[in-house]
Formats: sequence, structure tokens, C-alpha cells
Amino acid sequence: MYDAIIVGASFAGLAIANQLRGRRVLLIDRKPIGAGQTSACGTIWQVLRYWDLAEAVLQVHDGLVLHTARRAIEFPSPYPWCTFDYRRLCEILFQRSGADFLQAAVQGADGKTVHTNRGDFSARCLVDASGWRAVLATSLLPDFAPDDMNFGIETIVSPPEDAPASTMLHFWYAPTLLQDGLGWVFPRGETVSIGVGAYDGATHLSDTLTRFAARHAVSPDGLHGTYFPKALRAPTAGDVFVVGDAAGMCLALTGEGIRPALFFGEACGRIVRRVLTGELTLDAGLNEYEAFVRERRVLFRLFTALQSLLPRLPVSWINAIALVVRHDRLRPWVLDRYWDLTRTWDGKTMDPDGKM
Ligand SMILES: Cc1cc2nc3c(=O)[nH]c(=O)nc-3n(C[C@H](O)[C@H](O)[C@H](O)COP(=O)(O)OP(=O)(O)OC[C@H]3O[C@@H](n4cnc5c(N)ncnc54)[C@H](O)[C@@H]3O)c2cc1C
Repeated sequence: MYDAIIVGASFAGLAIANQLRGRRVLLIDRKPIGAGQTSACGTIWQVLRYWDLAEAVLQVHDGLVLHTARRAIEFPSPYPWCTFDYRRLCEILFQRSGADFLQAAVQGADGKTVHTNRGDFSARCLVDASGWRAVLATSLLPDFAPDDMNFGIETIVSPPEDAPASTMLHFWYAPTLLQDGLGWVFPRGETVSIGVGAYDGATHLSDTLTRFAARHAVSPDGLHGTYFPKALRAPTAGDVFVVGDAAGMCLALTGEGIRPALFFGEACGRIVRRVLTGELTLDAGLNEYEAFVRERRVLFRLFTALQSLLPRLPVSWINAIALVVRHDRLRPWVLDRYWDLTRTWDGKTMDPDGKM
């Protein structure tokens, strides 16, 4: 009997495990730690400072650029962004957690028991951090995860020698690339990640990616990617805590899910710790976690609505909206509100150095 079993050893699962140091925790993933990168690994730099993960940073960025069919609109950011090494970040978090690790495919849960292809394991608290599949939650509630999701793929390549260096995260929003989706180019030190994501969940994107990469004078060199949710789901299923993409904690439109997975993972981990010490009953812990997520659901709902609205507008409107948001008086305010989702914590606010 473990104190806690966490399914999924990526951002959400590792953030939870870090709050449970000193407890008997089993992390289960079907891949080795750090081997399952699906994302472009771009986030707000302070987020990695807050979790003391600066060692994994590959490049710091000054802001974002939105490329539409006709223009490139820059959004210098009041705070830096960064791209980081997925494997390194996972290894650091795992080493700090002190958790046991089992490489196994999880099939589902039943009461306090998790079934895997390597046997059954039990714990006082179960956490589903298995990404969009939500393997524990769907085994308890078959309709838990909706089919309607975004899908993205990307490749990591060396840029051509004559490519201009950039310290911005670049997004492409142009019907000539994808009718209903976006493309991105994220510099990451010596390499660059180039990807495309479809808002209608289309999975046949490799030709689109090849065409997009050719615009940047490169060819894809290996691919990774998967689905990513476009709407918040329930944060609990029966007695199971559900966190990260498993709970739909990925902002639609931008596809930003790392920061929410770490943040809600930490919040969930703190609550599970209090359940394990006896400060909270399991029911009270589940209720407190649900309330914590409910208080922060507005931004998720806003981005779900924006994702269904913006692709219907002509590109000229998108340009006009982007230029308004880009204005020096509005941009810092908008970007600050975007960060707020994970910046305020227990009544404290993260400062520009990533400290609370
Ligand atoms: C192409 C692409 C690019 C992206 N780029 C960014 C970006 O730059 N910035 C950003 O913030 N977000 C990005 N995202 C979104 C981001 O990757 C996710 O929101 C984030 O990974 C969610 O973290 P998580 O820990 O909840 O789930 P995941 O990272 O998906 O981890 C789930 C873990 O569960 C394991 N698992 C799944 N099923 C089982 C099972 N049956 N048994 C055992 N283990 C299992 C998996 O192996 C995996 O390790 C991107 C997504 C995609 C698809």
C-alpha cells in the first residue's frame, strides 16, 4: 500500500510528486522518465525560476510574434519567455521527488487499486496525470474525456546557417498554412522546434508540417506530438484527483498547457499531502481541489470561446485585433492577465524573478 499513486510522470505528475517528498509515492508511466516529449516546451521564464528549473532552460525570449497572411506583429513581453529541455526538466523534478518509478501501461482504477500490465498496485490517494487520455478517470467514467480535441505535431531541427537569430517565440496564423489551426517556430539555442496544430483535431498534419518547414529552409527530422484538450474537464473522478491535460488544463487557442500542469499539479500535491497527514479527509481534499480549479476556470473558458470564434474571422480582422492588443497601453495589461492564471498563489503574487 503506497501513500499515493500518480499515473503519468510528466509535468503534472512530477509537480505533484514534488509536493509529496518523504511519502511513499509510486509514479507510473509507460515511458522512461523524460522520454515522452510531446510539446514545444515554451513557457514563461519565471515559471521555471519558481520551480528552480533554470538549469533546463535552453533559450530566453523577449516576447511573441504573430505572423498572419500579410504581416508579422510583434508583442514584446513585460516578462521573458523561454524554451527548455524536456528530458532535463523531468529528470530534475523526478530526482527531487524521491518517488518510486514503475514503467508500465496503466489500464484503469478500481477503488484504491490501479491495474497495470505489470500487476496491481494500491494507495490511499490516486492521481490521474496521464495527459489527454485520462486513463484512470475514463476507466471510472467512460465519457470523462471528450473526443473533441486539438492535435499538434512538431519537429526539432538545426536551423540553416544563414537563418537570422531570433529571441522571440513565433506563431503563424494563416489560412495558407492551415485553415483551422496554427503553426509555430520556437528557437531553442542550437536548434529550433517547428510545429503545426489543428483546432479541428485533424491528425494528418505531416504534409502540412513538411511544407511549413520548407518555408524555413529545413526538412522535418523525426516527429512528435499528440492531442491537446481545448476545454477544462472535471478535476476529480470518483475518488481520483485529475490534473494537467487529463483535466483539460491546457489553454485553447495557444495550446499552452505546461504552466497549468505544473501549477495545478503543485496545488493538488499540497492538498493530497494534507489528506495523507490526516488534516483533511479524502472527501474534503477532493472538494477543496475542485473549488481551487473552479475559482480559476474563467481564463480556460475565455480561451475555449476565443478558439471557436477567431478562426471564423477574416484575416484582416485578426490583424486589426492583434494591432489593438499590441498597443503599448494594452499589451502589458493583456499579457499580465494571461500570466495571472498561475501567478497568484495563497494571496501572494510571483515577482519578476519568479519568487513569491
Ligand atoms: C505538438 C505540441 C506542442 C506543444 N507545445 C507546448 C508549449 O510549447 N508550451 C506549453 O505550455 N504547452 C505545449 N503543449 C501542451 C503541453 O504539451 C501539454 O499541455 C502538457 O504536456 C500537459 O502535461 P501533463 O503532465 O498533463 O500531460 P503529458 O505531458 O501529456 O504527460 C502524460 C504522461 O502520462 C503518460 N501516460 C499516458 N497514458 C498512460 C498509461 N496508460 N499508462 C502509463 N502512463 C501513461 C504519458 O506517457 C506521459 O508521460 C503542446 C502540445 C503539443 C501536442
